[in-house]
Amino acid sequence: MDTKIQIKDRFFTPYISREKIAEAVARVASQMNEDLAGKNPLFLCVLNGAFVFAADLFREITVDAEISFIRMKSYDGMQSTGQVKELYGLQQDITGRTVVVVEDIVDTGFTIQQLIQKLNIHNPKEVKVATLLFKPESLKCDVKPDYVALEIPPAFIVGYGLDYDEQGRNLKDIYVVAED
Ligand code: IMP
Repeated sequence: MDTKIQIKDRFFTPYISREKIAEAVARVASQMNEDLAGKNPLFLCVLNGAFVFAADLFREITVDAEISFIRMKSYDGMQSTGQVKELYGLQQDITGRTVVVVEDIVDTGFTIQQLIQKLNIHNPKEVKVATLLFKPESLKCDVKPDYVALEIPPAFIVGYGLDYDEQGRNLKDIYVVAED
């Protein structure tokens, strides 16, 4: 993996390699293939951060499934705001369906909690959450993702779809912010 990189005013060091990410994605996908067989789930990729994970995850899904894209952001710079933002982009009728929300990271859990509430208004059969990363020590809500590729401590990370101020999403590996 590369060494230290700079994005805007911050330095980041290599944290999780693309190989480790691929292994984790394959592992979580195989668990999902077992659980979701026969349910024709609708995967809802939460933009922007989850697009890389969703693309890799979805290609590991071998059961009948659909994918679509929604947006709901509550994060600014490097601190979670917990701010409520609207869900938009939902075009499908999800009544009676198994929905799998695909997130990049569950940090405080506010985003996913609000998203689940908004989806539940449409009476889906069930809402499952699949996340690339989970920071259990940062969780401030009563939500638990159903599928977690990787658990990490509460540090700020970038790469593989995740950004620092909209930069760094194209990095193939995941990097962690370096101490000052
Ligand atoms: P939550 O509402 O605090 O769970 O935050 C969820 C959203 O915050 C994620 O979907 C990300 O967009 C963003 N986020 C949380 N932690 C990080 C991080 O370490 N790096 C980049 N974005 C993050």
